[in-house]
Amino acid sequence: MAKAYIIGGGVAGLAAATALARKGAQVELFEAGPQAGGRCRSYFDATMGQVIDNGNHLVLSGNHAVYAYLERIGAASALKGPDHATVDFVDLGEGLRWKVALNDGLLPFWMLRAATRVPGTAAKDYAAFAPLLWAKKSATIGRVVRPQGMLWRRLVHPYLLAALNTEPENASAALAGEVLRQGLLAGGRACRPRIAEPNLAAAFITPALAFLEKNGAKVHLGQRLRRFTIAGTGVRALEFADATIPSGMKDAVVLAVNAPVAQDLVPGLCAPNQFRAIVNAHFAAAPPAGAPAMLGVIGGTAEWIFSFPDRISVTISAADGIVDEERESLAARIWRDVTAALQLDAALPASIPPWQIVKEKRATFAATPEQDALRPGPRTATRNLFLAGDWTQTGLPATLEGAIRSGETAAALAMRHLQL
Ligand SMILES: Cc1cc2nc3c(=O)[nH]c(=O)nc-3n(C[C@H](O)[C@H](O)[C@H](O)COP(=O)(O)OP(=O)(O)OC[C@H]3O[C@@H](n4cnc5c(N)ncnc54)[C@H](O)[C@@H]3O)c2cc1C
Repeated sequence: MAKAYIIGGGVAGLAAATALARKGAQVELFEAGPQAGGRCRSYFDATMGQVIDNGNHLVLSGNHAVYAYLERIGAASALKGPDHATVDFVDLGEGLRWKVALNDGLLPFWMLRAATRVPGTAAKDYAAFAPLLWAKKSATIGRVVRPQGMLWRRLVHPYLLAALNTEPENASAALAGEVLRQGLLAGGRACRPRIAEPNLAAAFITPALAFLEKNGAKVHLGQRLRRFTIAGTGVRALEFADATIPSGMKDAVVLAVNAPVAQDLVPGLCAPNQFRAIVNAHFAAAPPAGAPAMLGVIGGTAEWIFSFPDRISVTISAADGIVDEERESLAARIWRDVTAALQLDAALPASIPPWQIVKEKRATFAATPEQDALRPGPRTATRNLFLAGDWTQTGLPATLEGAIRSGETAAALAMRHLQL
C-alpha cells in the first residue's frame, strides 16, 4: 500500500498525519527534534520545577480547525476558558482597569454600551476600523486606518499585536481584517478565549501521538530530513542521517517544516524570510485568588499575563527590541509589571520567584504585506510533495488555527494523490 510520509511533527504535521491516519493511510512521521510539537511544546523546566510551555498559546472558541483537530484526537476538553468573551485589561501608565465584554450574538451590542466597551471610546470609534475588512493585500494597517486614539491604544493595538506578532502599523491590513472577522467581529460565542490546561502538550501533542499510535502510524523522533531525491516530477527517496527511505510515485509526502528549512529542501521555493520574536516569562508563583485567567497590560513591558494554578506566565509579542536583553534584567522588569498589574504586592513574594525566560527569535513570520505575498500554496512542482505550516498561504497570520488548516489542506491533497 502506498504511504503518506509527513516531515515535521509540529501542529501542522500532526494535523496532516492524524487526518491521513483517520482515513486509513499508512502514515510515517519524521520529526527532527527529540519531541514533537515544534513551536507549540511543553517541557519540564528544572529552574521552575514544573512543566511549562515554550509560550502561552491563546486560541478562540470559534477556531474551527483547532476544535475539529482536538475532537479528532479526543482532546477538546483540554482547552479551558470563561463562559463568555470577557477580557480584563489594565493600563499601568494611567492606573486604569476595565473589562471588554462581548455579547454572545453576532451584532456587536458591546460596542454600543459604555459598560462593555473600552473606556474613553465611543461607538463611532469602532466603525473607523471597518476599512480593515476590505483592505487590499498590499496595504499596511497604518495606511488604511489611523493608528492612534484611545481605542487603538487600549484594544486594537494590543489585540492585533498579539494576533499578528508584528508591529501593527506596518502589518498587513488584509490579515488584520481576517483576524477581526474571525475574532472580535465573529460575536462573543466565537471569541471566548481558550488556553490549554495544564499545558500545550496535554491538548495538542500527546493526544495526537496517542491517536497516531492507535491508528497504526509510525512516529520517528530525532530524524532530520536532509534531502529529497526528486526524479521527474516525483519524490523518489527521503534521505536522513543514517538511512535513505525509497518512496514511489504513488506515495505522498507532506513537508510540514518551518519556512527556512522548507526553502533549503525545496529548490526555488518562495517563502517568508523575515520573522518576529516572542518572549515569554514564566514565574513559579501561584496567582492569588481572583486573578483573571488572562490580563491585557498596556503601558508596560509585559503585554499579556496568564494565570495558571501553579504559575504566572507573561507574553511579549514582536519582541525583537528586547529579545537580546540580558535575562535577569528582563525577568526583573517583567516581574515588576506582574506585581503592579495583578496588584499583588502583599500576596506575592517580595523577591522574584523562580523564573524562566523563553526566547523564540523566529516565533512567526513577519505579518507584513510583503511577507504575506511570499507565502506559497500547498502544491509544489513535485506532484507527490505537498506543503504545510503556518507560513504557507492560509489567509491567516501564523497561528495554531492557520497551522492546523494548512495540515488539513495538505492532507486532503495527499489523500487525493493516494486515492483514499
Ligand atoms: C512563543 C510562541 C507563542 C505563540 N502564541 C500563539 C498563540 O497564542 N496563538 C496561536 O494560535 N499561535 C501562537 N503561536 C504560533 C504557533 O505556535 C505556530 O503557528 C504553530 O505552532 C506552527 O506550527 P507548524 O507545525 O506550522 O510549525 P512548527 O511548530 O515550527 O513545526 C515544524 C516542525 O518541523 C520540524 N523540522 C524542522 N526541520 C526538519 C527536518 N529537516 N526534518 C524533520 N523535521 C523537521 C521542527 O523540529 C518542528 O517540530 C506562537 C508561537 C510561539 C513560538
